[in-house]
Amino acid sequence: MFSDRVVSGMRPTGALHLGHYHGALKNWVRLQSEYPCMFFVADWHALTTHYNSVEVIGNNVWEMVIDWLAAGIDPAQTILFIQSRVPEHAELHTLLSMCTPLGWLERVPTYKDQQEKLSDRDLATYGFLGYPLLQAADILIYRASYVPVGEDQVPHVELTREVARRFNHLFGREPGFEDKAREAIKKLGSKRARQYAEFRTRYQEKGDDEALEQGRSLLDEAQNLGMGDRERLYGYLEGSSKLILAEPQALLTEASRMPGIDGAKMSKSYGNAIAMREDPASVTKKIRTMPTDPARVRRTDPGEPERCPVWQLHQVYSSDETCQWVQVNCRSAGIGCLECKQPVIDAVLAEQVVFRERAQPYLDDPALIRAIMADGCEKARRLAQETMRDVREAMGLAFD
Ligand code: ATP
Ligand code: MG
Repeated sequence: MFSDRVVSGMRPTGALHLGHYHGALKNWVRLQSEYPCMFFVADWHALTTHYNSVEVIGNNVWEMVIDWLAAGIDPAQTILFIQSRVPEHAELHTLLSMCTPLGWLERVPTYKDQQEKLSDRDLATYGFLGYPLLQAADILIYRASYVPVGEDQVPHVELTREVARRFNHLFGREPGFEDKAREAIKKLGSKRARQYAEFRTRYQEKGDDEALEQGRSLLDEAQNLGMGDRERLYGYLEGSSKLILAEPQALLTEASRMPGIDGAKMSKSYGNAIAMREDPASVTKKIRTMPTDPARVRRTDPGEPERCPVWQLHQVYSSDETCQWVQVNCRSAGIGCLECKQPVIDAVLAEQVVFRERAQPYLDDPALIRAIMADGCEKARRLAQETMRDVREAMGLAFD
């Protein structure tokens, strides 16, 4: 049950750009070799802001997955799926909505922020208010341990933890729980049972977190415990309720802010983005026409990298040596701006060659991508259904 699983999603609202690659996808690629990962196309989340322009979504679902694969996501290691193909997410969202206080959602910082920022869209909808709870369902349904997020999303993971805690508190007590827990302890064998009882006392009476950890690893190592008993004993260890939903942790992605071609954060809505698989001629033109230090009017004027958006791109793409070359020769007017831009152009184009190579097989044969996603959706669905069986039972919905 507590499998160290990582879950994350992205909204299919446009072609992925270098900001998505450097800010999120590179991190996903690293995580997939460290944990079992699940990455999903958040098409319902896209609808929360794009219900007026739904064509955007259909057009971008497959392209976005191809961008993921282009970045190096490996479907043999990682489960890739589409949110709307696992309707259990919606079921859990509905069930969680029954016991989530309205204030918790109204207080999520992105709620008011985004409404103000995207003032051209009417976001005074029920779906938009509820989207952090849908996100909570996306995570909890897979009992994920870790959620890779940027700083702005941390409050969403915190909300998810609160929702899980409240759910376990309200519904975690199964009939005859204490008796079942005591029966399960016997299955540990006498030595382990004694240790377990000790850890439990130390944690519950003295708040000793180390004892909690030790108790958990004892359970992890006890091979003759079934899934249900192990969950029960996890819960009994912590305070005598069964943990149905697991509280995830945020895996904070180191502060990375990929600048766009105007120096502001790269975003498709600011029109300053370079797509991951953009045509090389267009990439070259975009960078060659990028603004530079506004004070450097003539070629002979010395420049200041700190005032130049191109310098920000050097910091992402260039070696220390090249950065040094830029610093010295910009300030001494030793090089012109076009000369300075060339290493950035070369680096971006080289990066994109790899993206294009990886994407090509899927562009040649669209059936490949359909098959990968069908397989991923099926795997995701099986996991989601397992959780939903427990959730329905806990909420009094398992009447046959
Ligand atoms: P856009 O910002 O281009 O309009 P979006 O709003 O649909 O796209 P986001 O939710 O902003 O997409 O981004 C998806 C992921 O990519 C997030 O994890 C976000 O942190 C990351 N990301 C997007 N743009 C950047 C950037 N310029 N620098 C770093 N990370 C980024
Ligand atoms: Mg954005």
